[in-house]
Amino acid sequence: MKNRHYYIYIAAVLVIAGLMVAVALSKRSQSIEHEQSQSVEQASKTNFIMDTVVEIRATGVDAESAVDAAFAEMERVEKAFSRHLQDSVVTRINQQAGQWVAVTEEVIVLLEQALHYSEISNGAFDITVGRLIDLWGFGTGTNQVPSEMELDEALGSVGYQGLEIDADANRVRIPSGTVIDLGGIAKGYAVDRARKVLEAKGIKSGMIYAGGDITTIGAKPDGSAWRVGVQHPRESEELIAIVELKSKTIVTSGDYERYFIDDGVRYHHIIDPESGYPAQGVISVTIYGAQAVDADALSTAVFVLGMDRGKELIEGLPGYEAIIVNQDGNIWVSSGLADRITLL
Ligand code: ADP
Ligand code: MG
Repeated sequence: MKNRHYYIYIAAVLVIAGLMVAVALSKRSQSIEHEQSQSVEQASKTNFIMDTVVEIRATGVDAESAVDAAFAEMERVEKAFSRHLQDSVVTRINQQAGQWVAVTEEVIVLLEQALHYSEISNGAFDITVGRLIDLWGFGTGTNQVPSEMELDEALGSVGYQGLEIDADANRVRIPSGTVIDLGGIAKGYAVDRARKVLEAKGIKSGMIYAGGDITTIGAKPDGSAWRVGVQHPRESEELIAIVELKSKTIVTSGDYERYFIDDGVRYHHIIDPESGYPAQGVISVTIYGAQAVDADALSTAVFVLGMDRGKELIEGLPGYEAIIVNQDGNIWVSSGLADRITLL
């Protein structure tokens, strides 16, 4: 009897001691977690969004959750602005062509930006090219050269002047038969939004790489500039230049990204809204500047305008620089980029 009490006593002491150790350990692990959440992390993640491999890197407190939030924002933008997703606002505008469609202020602002680039490029940038893009099969998976008749008919639906924006009532309308396609500007917008999410989370050093669209926050963690390569338009393993970026953006549009070859002719996805055919003359345009949404629209606009008119547009736009490569392989670099670029 006495022995039994003794054993119960020992067992109770052991249980209590065990609990005390467990409590102490859990306190310790809490404090370690706490310390970690306050310390600087480096995070880097890759996802497939907007038809491209997207990599986001960030250094800072809670960098990993900041990167996750940035990806979530990009996915939100893709869902809103893709015309291949049923619930997107772009799909709604297209399906209800001819009628006013209620949209959020975010949509109004992006469409106004698109219109601005149509105006300053004399229609070289035009989001109403949707039916032309469909005829060539970009985005559908099966490409073909359309007939002249098909192109003529579709060209009748193209024209940014037909896009009406009623900013006071938050509604937009496109003419019946017109199809809008934000492929030339939405990725830049998504990249900017993702960057803003990182910045709002306190990230002071970061980079978002989304195919041809790259934006940076500050410098690299070691303080040096981000060095971004510009791809050779014909040799996929080679670079033509390296550009140094600090809190800046670079966007490239090329005829080598999405194209098909028919009868020895290369047909790519940047369409001249005037002819209905892929734009000729230039094979790669890189735009350097602050915001990716502007650089994205400009890269497409300059591509369509060609070397001479493209140069003119860029030289008249403070804050935006360009590298233009024409079909003969000639490279033009705008004056403001000279001290940040190494040509290879
Ligand atoms: P990406 O970076 O995805 O290759 P770009 O910025 O080069 O895209 O723009 C090409 C896309 O823009 C096309 O896939 C199409 O959706 C759309 N587009 C094609 N031609 C024009 C144009 N003239 N104006 C506006 N958008 C266009
Ligand atoms: Mg573009």
